[in-house]
Amino acid sequence: MKTAIIYPPIKKNNEYPLLTQNRQFKFSNSLEVRIYPVVMSYLATMLKEKGHSVLFLDGINMRLSFQKFHDLLDDFKPEVIVLESKAPLMKLLWNYIKEVRTRYPDSKIILTGDHTSCYPEESFKNCPADYIIKGGHYDFIITELMECLGKKSKRLPPDVYYKKKNKLLFSGTGKEYDLDRLPLIDRDLTKWDIYGEAYLYHPVGYIMSGRGCGGSNSFKNFRSSKLRKGKYTTKMPGLCSFCVWQYALWKVSAHLMSPVKVVDEIENLVKNYKVKEIFDDNESGGIWNTEWLKDLYKEMKKRNLLEKVILSANARADSLTDEVCRLLKKLNFRLLKIGVESGNDKTLSILKKDETVEEIKEGIKRAKRYGLIAMLTTMVGYPWEDEKQAQKTYEVTKEIMLYKTHFGDSLQSSIIVPYPGTPLYNDAIRKKWFIVDPKDYEKFDMAHQILKTPIDTAKWCKKIWRIHLHPLFLLKSFFSLRKGQDIILAIRGLISLLGHLRDYEK
Ligand code: SF4
Repeated sequence: MKTAIIYPPIKKNNEYPLLTQNRQFKFSNSLEVRIYPVVMSYLATMLKEKGHSVLFLDGINMRLSFQKFHDLLDDFKPEVIVLESKAPLMKLLWNYIKEVRTRYPDSKIILTGDHTSCYPEESFKNCPADYIIKGGHYDFIITELMECLGKKSKRLPPDVYYKKKNKLLFSGTGKEYDLDRLPLIDRDLTKWDIYGEAYLYHPVGYIMSGRGCGGSNSFKNFRSSKLRKGKYTTKMPGLCSFCVWQYALWKVSAHLMSPVKVVDEIENLVKNYKVKEIFDDNESGGIWNTEWLKDLYKEMKKRNLLEKVILSANARADSLTDEVCRLLKKLNFRLLKIGVESGNDKTLSILKKDETVEEIKEGIKRAKRYGLIAMLTTMVGYPWEDEKQAQKTYEVTKEIMLYKTHFGDSLQSSIIVPYPGTPLYNDAIRKKWFIVDPKDYEKFDMAHQILKTPIDTAKWCKKIWRIHLHPLFLLKSFFSLRKGQDIILAIRGLISLLGHLRDYEK
């Protein structure tokens, strides 16, 4: 069947929505954030391998006009159309899906993504979608669903919502999928080279070493019922109450691919696409599992890939022991994107981060002592934090940024958004923190104040972003510039920073 996987080029005030593979959503001035949608790319590849004809059309990151976007879609004549959802875009998506239905009346429309996964009823009510997929394994699920649509199978796969005689039906609770069964991503089909972010060397390839956050991998506060057998398991998956993918897509669990499988993707990107850097966009990388890292090292060494490519990943600070940092350096890791979230222990405890501020500071500083680059993610606007606590987050972030600064150290600062489907969203309803209607999803776009807070969130976000312009930070970054390509990275980073600063001037 002719299947179009599409991201319509919706824009608001001339700004692009950060939709693909973004946990935190906003419309942004920054043109530098184009994150590769890994799961959608697996879906495209699996469908192609099954003999379907696939159009992968990311109108947002291709910066297409609607005219051009529809010309391409019309040429293709899709029989099946797949879209990804996100709370702040829902109204626009529902309207767009109505238009799609008129344009392609006989097509089947499938919705994926964290929002519809949690709230399928409202999308069936507001738009003519045919199927909604629950959870994040929609590459496996849609591939199986297509067998049904093509009449090769009569049984719907689990985790599919659909409508019959105006009733919402569900095909049953999902099974576990073996990530090692995934194919090698077809990078050409999915236009890999249009993607990248300001802080990564280009050309950059994206992978996901697994799905779900391995958490602190300790029994510190919680004994997980999700304990799985085998070597690459977690004793305690990530539980952060704001982490929308962990709840909506991964059902609070963590699964890693085998290192052999991950190295297959790495090898393909290195040998066939000559990438300079590979970013592992799994929730907290595979870094929480030392055994997995050791096996990854052995496999990279066996295939003579060490030193051939730079690796970067998401990580939790408390995973960064001396042993892990040494392994990461041996694997040629460069940058780690690490959640600080807040400089206050009370906040970390409310968020169920399962780390203290001291542990976060110590983990990141240790990684920096080993020469790893840190990209920090911070948030402000928690209903229980006042100016004093926002100042503490600023101070902690500044302290880490100025500690053994290397060129490339950076940060992101955003406003806390309790996305529907997370425990934080439910807390916000229960504790009456919302100052807008919790169903007014359009306002969850970081441009609006949606939670009670005594602070000016835009001012604090901007103040934290501006740590990049601290004289000491600039000086230390400048004197640690090593390669010519760092200059390109610096220019791109500066342009991106200006874009982000403009985001908070609205
Ligand atoms: S540590 Fe990061 S990835 Fe893991 S649950 Fe918390 S926010 Fe999500």
